[in-house]
This record gives sequence, structure tokens and C-alpha cells, in this order.
Amino acid sequence: MTPLTELLAGQDRWTGAACLGRWDLFDPRRDDEDQEHYTARVYRAQTICGTCPILDDCRGYASNARPRHRVGTWAGQPYDLNGRPIRLKEKP
Ligand code: SF4
Repeated sequence: MTPLTELLAGQDRWTGAACLGRWDLFDPRRDDEDQEHYTARVYRAQTICGTCPILDDCRGYASNARPRHRVGTWAGQPYDLNGRPIRLKEKP
């Protein structure tokens, strides 16, 4: 279970999160995943975040979270396994 999944599980504050059930798009880059596939996955996650009613809460949580608790894509921002923001090429 990813940190995002753990956070969202059973917490009323996160009711309505647009990523519920779409964890596969929000996970950090897998060891066997090439950059192109990962980037496409993050773009899809960012599109979902753009529709999310709790985007601001999520962004605030991510910015205050300990880095090791902030992996994968949060509020449209991808983070590496150390919780550092990842810069991707501009979306085509
Ligand atoms: S902003 Fe994105 S990552 Fe955060 S709860 Fe919404 S859909 Fe999930």
C-alpha cells in the first residue's frame, strides 16, 4: 500500500478524492518501468488531480509531509522514492 493509499483509506477528510481506485496511476516509478511509460502515467494522474475537489488540501498535505511519506504523485506533482519533486518535460 502506498502512502497515498494509506492516507486516503478510511479518512472522511479525503472523501471525494478523484484518485480513489486509480492507485496504479499515482504510484512512484517502478524499477522495470521506462521513462516514457512513467511520464504518460503521471500525465494521466495530473489530469485526474485537475478535477479533484480536494486538490488544495492534498497539495497542502504533500507540502507539509515528511519526504519519506511523499512518494508517487500528489496533487499533480510527482515525487521520487526520497520524496523529492520530479520535473518532467512539458506535457505535449
Ligand atoms: S489532488 Fe490528486 S492525488 Fe490528491 S487526492 Fe486529489 S486526485 Fe488524489
